[in-house]
Amino acid sequence: MQIRKIGIIGGGQLAWMMGEPAQKLGLELIIQTPHSEDPAVTIAKEVVYAEVGDAIATSRLAAQCDVIGFENEFVDLPTLSLIPNQENLFHPSLQSLEPLLDKYNQRCYLQELGLPNPQFWLLEDANQDNYNFSYPLVLKARRHGYDGQGTIVVKDKFQLIPAWQSMGGGSVLAEEFIPFVKELAVIAARNITGEIRIYPIFETQQEDQVCRRVFAPAAVNQEVVLLAEKIITTILESTQVVGLFAVELFLTETGELLVNEIAPRTHNSGHLTIDACPTSQFEQYLRAIAEQPLGEVNLQTAGAVMVNLLGHAGIDQDNYLAKKQLLEQIPHSHFYWYGKSPRPGRKLGHMTVLIPEGTSPAVQEKMPSIAHQVEAIWYG
Ligand code: ADP
Repeated sequence: MQIRKIGIIGGGQLAWMMGEPAQKLGLELIIQTPHSEDPAVTIAKEVVYAEVGDAIATSRLAAQCDVIGFENEFVDLPTLSLIPNQENLFHPSLQSLEPLLDKYNQRCYLQELGLPNPQFWLLEDANQDNYNFSYPLVLKARRHGYDGQGTIVVKDKFQLIPAWQSMGGGSVLAEEFIPFVKELAVIAARNITGEIRIYPIFETQQEDQVCRRVFAPAAVNQEVVLLAEKIITTILESTQVVGLFAVELFLTETGELLVNEIAPRTHNSGHLTIDACPTSQFEQYLRAIAEQPLGEVNLQTAGAVMVNLLGHAGIDQDNYLAKKQLLEQIPHSHFYWYGKSPRPGRKLGHMTVLIPEGTSPAVQEKMPSIAHQVEAIWYG
């Protein structure tokens, strides 16, 4: 069967960025989302208007397409598993997703695989005597967290219970705070024949737990690259996934790598692959799930910088165009605007700047100053 119609659950910018490669590959996208103003509605062949977790709507989606993929992980697996005839319907399969959607279960899975994890616990009640935590500590909602929503750093034992209560006082993941020197991301796809392609390692920089900028390639030694590749390969093979995963990593002072989390989908750190690699992460994901050969994943430039354009008080639906004009004067730049209504802190778009071969000063030195230039224009 030739796969042509792809259902995607979720309508945000990650689904929107699948629009162009879908066209290139001759695929049609049918999007399930509740919001008519979502970015991906503009690129969809058809839309099933329903909540992401609405499995009855997903069974309607299934009737219209050859395979179903995911833009986010906020789905409800028990109800999705009731959909009949689902062999090769979902990519990733529901079995691949099963150990990953709940952050505590994901930590247990990483531990079972013998992959490097921060120490972690389940926090379920207010009795401090039940726990032997060391501080600082990080509390995370087990599900539905994004952009640091649902993640709280707890500095000492006096803050623990108020922080836990502010999260609703249910069952939460507690984990050791890692004093990392860098945060890295590795993205890779696996297709139905088991072939794996791994992108170069990227450095991500977060502020207030929100990704602000990404540098490619990350300035790390070959040992770290090999370790990151081994970690993602183990995850892709053990889950037997058909699709694309990103793994967020902490690099410590001693060169140790620890997994922060697995995102079972395309990822913010991979936006620069659109302009910097022969195959973007979005195209690669579609290739994997449409059973087409995987594409090349090398960097085609000496380096690339991606800056997230977050909403702030000075931005509204109309005046961003003046900023866009200024940003586009930066050589080798590519501006993306998702068309979402501006709100402070919301990811509204991004900008990728490529650094060609032979530029001076060296690429690694240039990257922070390029990011600074973009941010000075955007937030200035
Ligand atoms: P989300 O899923 O909402 O993106 P993450 O779990 O990735 O949340 O956390 C967001 C950011 O918070 C991370 O990129 C990192 O900067 C910081 N963070 C998360 N967990 C830890 C930890 N155990 N130690 C230190 N910093 C952490």
